[in-house]
Amino acid sequence: MTLGLTCNRCHQAITGEDEDELVVNVQEHVAAHGRVHGMAHKPSRAHILRRLRKQQAEAAEAAVGRVEAAEAAAGGAGEAKATADRAEEAGSPKD
Ligand SMILES: [Zn+2]
Repeated sequence: MTLGLTCNRCHQAITGEDEDELVVNVQEHVAAHGRVHGMAHKPSRAHILRRLRKQQAEAAEAAVGRVEAAEAAAGGAGEAKATADRAEEAGSPKD
């Protein structure tokens, strides 16, 4: 599974095949920024993985939100059908 993190500074997506690769790629990416700005900064593995977990949690939350919205839409359609069924029942002749 490919993992990805967005750079805080330039919003570029940084990816890796696993956590080890992602950590190395993020550290190299941030080091490149450091060279440009003339200051060395190397985020720790723990720091990168914390950000990864946070981003994954936020993505999962967003996915849950989408499912809830889809269910609400489906529920609304079901209700509309139930109303139509009741209307049909009321309209049908009873003996
Ligand atoms: Zn960047």
